[in-house]
Amino acid sequence: MAFYMSEDGPMTLGRSAERMPGEAEARLRAALPGWAQLVLGALEGAGYEAWVVGGFVRDGLLGRPSHDVDIATDARWQEVQRVAEAAGLRTHETGVKHGTLTVTVPLDAAGDVVPAEVAKHWEAVEVTTYRIEGPYEDGRRPSSVTAARTIEEDLARRDFTMNALAFHPARGIADPYGGAADMAAGIIRIVGDPDARFAEDGLRILRACRFASQLGFALEGATYEAMLSHKHLLARVSTERITHELDAFVAGAFVHDALMATWEVLAFAVPELAAMARCPQRNPYHVYDVLEHTAWAMQRVPPTRLLRWAALCHDMGKPAAAFRGADGIDHFYGHAEVGARLTRGLLGRLLMGTAFQDDVVRLVRAHDDEVAPTPKGVRRALARLDGDAELFRALCQLKRADALAHSELGAARAEQAAKLEAVLDEVLAAEDAFTVAALAVGGRDALAAGCPKGPAVGALLDAALEAVIDGQVPNEQEALRTFMREQVRRARK
Ligand code: ATP
Ligand code: MG
Repeated sequence: MAFYMSEDGPMTLGRSAERMPGEAEARLRAALPGWAQLVLGALEGAGYEAWVVGGFVRDGLLGRPSHDVDIATDARWQEVQRVAEAAGLRTHETGVKHGTLTVTVPLDAAGDVVPAEVAKHWEAVEVTTYRIEGPYEDGRRPSSVTAARTIEEDLARRDFTMNALAFHPARGIADPYGGAADMAAGIIRIVGDPDARFAEDGLRILRACRFASQLGFALEGATYEAMLSHKHLLARVSTERITHELDAFVAGAFVHDALMATWEVLAFAVPELAAMARCPQRNPYHVYDVLEHTAWAMQRVPPTRLLRWAALCHDMGKPAAAFRGADGIDHFYGHAEVGARLTRGLLGRLLMGTAFQDDVVRLVRAHDDEVAPTPKGVRRALARLDGDAELFRALCQLKRADALAHSELGAARAEQAAKLEAVLDEVLAAEDAFTVAALAVGGRDALAAGCPKGPAVGALLDAALEAVIDGQVPNEQEALRTFMREQVRRARK
């Protein structure tokens, strides 16, 4: 693959690099960590040009915390390597085929730059040579990359205007595509021709949805139209990348608005959404169709991965379970069980870990179960979740958000769900038994009570647990032994 400096002059852009008001630049200057400045300084000290680009500039201007720093430079990766190592930094050839070298800076515990020998940890900066991408042949990656001469040329290959900004502490902000104005207006706009840019790389379609969910921005009209008409290109994106973007999407602070705005696009990756969008709920408890109800439920659970996916999936079984009764009311009997099966299918297709799948599926299956807000009711529910108290807490939060996403008739149910958590705390504090393992008796006691070996032992212990949960027998060895002898005697009759 050729990697050479462009012989052409700098590209002429519609708008030249605009300077932003000083306040924003001051904010970015203050946010830029010392270790990133060190890398910039080392490159510029050696006579190259270097800019901070991408998410760091975007998030810094929005006043959001930023995790990683990307640098773009006119130095080739071999030159970056030479300069960085001469400055006592380490380098890793993470993406040199595309001109990317990872440079790590030694830091002490306080985060100050120190000599390598006394480093407590290393902070990484990705440094990429300015580049122009060759033709995209697979709808995902360029078949070649060519070094570009200027930062403006490099910014042209970036996906959205808000991601096509560059910053340098002395030179300020370069913004050739109006990214700052789009951010101020809350707009996600693709750089260049929308059809061409999404056709090049289908992943950008999901990145747009994900940024909408994280930032609460609206998709600019032509950008959205092109996402919709190219959504079939998601078929060329690897499942891992799709899942990664969907994880970020569901965790977004503006997930309700983003789901309603982009579901037709997302449906290519999550086809279950299409049925949900077409599923009305004519029923006094509901004011929304299944999709919008789902979007509100997602918005109202805390943004953990487990709860957001559980909220997305909780009513996925409704379109299949729906029927309209003679009374004109829609019913969804059994939808939780159907939903559990659809959830398993979806998360499996997305290659999520089985333990995570299990937890989401259990929440979906249990989300509509009645749980009385009493110690007995909570112990029973805990037993159904194999004693997993944290999962039960998540269930309470799901139930609460689910109830709040209903008509006003749901308010009382939401209060009840909130009460469940308080009862859970009581049950945990009292160290009540809600698993067989916590019983004061075990398999040996069951056999001593005359129970035949085999599956009957488990069944007898389950019966003992149920009696303890219901408060019929105290969780004490003698009382439970007596209870089990009685059960065995009755079974023999
Ligand atoms: P995040 O907050 O998730 O890190 P980011 O925008 O920084 O968001 P990265 O994957 O770190 O995302 O990419 C860094 C920059 O590289 C982006 O801001 C954008 O300029 C560019 N970029 C990343 N992915 C693409 C893509 N698929 N097409 C075009 N440009 C991209
Ligand atoms: Mg980033």
